[in-house]
Amino acid sequence: MTTIIKPALIARCAAMLCLSLLLSACGSDPAPTPTTAPAPTTAPPPTATTAPAPTTAPPPTTAPPPTTPPEPTAMPEPTQEAASDGPPAFQMPPPTMTMLADGVYHYFGFFTSSLVVVANDQVLTTDPSNPMRAQSLKDEIAKLTDAPVTTIALTHEHYDHVGGTGVFPDAKVVCQWNCTAAFALTALGDVPEVDETFDDFMEIAVGDKRVQLHYLGPGDGDATTIIYMPEEQIVVTSDMYEPRALTHKNWVDDKNFVGTRRILNTINGWNLKHAINAHSPGTDLVDLRENVEYYNDLYDAVRAAVDEAIAQAGGASFGAYGLFDTLPGTLQLDKYKDWDNYDTSFPRHIQRMLLGIYHGD
Ligand SMILES: [Zn+2]
Repeated sequence: MTTIIKPALIARCAAMLCLSLLLSACGSDPAPTPTTAPAPTTAPPPTATTAPAPTTAPPPTTAPPPTTPPEPTAMPEPTQEAASDGPPAFQMPPPTMTMLADGVYHYFGFFTSSLVVVANDQVLTTDPSNPMRAQSLKDEIAKLTDAPVTTIALTHEHYDHVGGTGVFPDAKVVCQWNCTAAFALTALGDVPEVDETFDDFMEIAVGDKRVQLHYLGPGDGDATTIIYMPEEQIVVTSDMYEPRALTHKNWVDDKNFVGTRRILNTINGWNLKHAINAHSPGTDLVDLRENVEYYNDLYDAVRAAVDEAIAQAGGASFGAYGLFDTLPGTLQLDKYKDWDNYDTSFPRHIQRMLLGIYHGD
């Protein structure tokens, strides 16, 4: 199989949602064909014999520096034509399909990632996003195999990831149980018909390959699903982190910062060769490890301030109330000042982490 790597293009969820709104015009009409993928009642460790415990993960400070200059973290400027009578025209970069292991690919198109797992007679993929992107994903998969997409696993419930499932009429749609309640509230349409849900863990066989779905608690959204292929040592996360960029302030309200930190620390302890994230074409583990370090540093700094404030109040939790007004304006983590969105969004990260530590949300 060919490996195509295009120049790096980074986008944020903000851009994706805008694009989804622009590009999603038709509703889904899935006609799923259920297949069996029994879900264990308990979640085994990602790899029972080889995955080290999260506590044995290399400390973030040992993460090697990137060997290449940081990828651009700003939203690529879309091609804009002077349009006095309409919105600017977007020119999408062509999609890429990069082989990560035998039969396992990373599709990156419309600024969003999908995992593609190919077997003789079936294909699993993730997050079609919207009908236009889903058709592009389908077209690129057709270059790899004649087999139909039989399973779509959703990484979480957010609208910019879950549309377009109707483009794959042979696929069953799988998501973590929490997505069903969220889909009942979704206002923008193109909500997938969910064929199978799981609570904490599900393993899907795609030929001789194992694709595991792990629910490790809320991260970005409530149905946050971590996809892991233990033999291939590939993990897929969605909207959890970006290379050398803070999640933009407009998109942090549905991100559980304490949960995101915990999830990233957990998966960083797994055996990994590639880490696919939602909105960048790279799969380098350094991106994951730098973000583990960021979330740990943010947690430690905010937690220290909370502990000190409560101690000064004689142990009363209300001693931390004032921090909601003061800490976002005073705390700095100079190490991350060159990350994209730091200037605009770091105070909101402080607020969200503070609330997470204080309220668990
Ligand atoms: Zn999201």
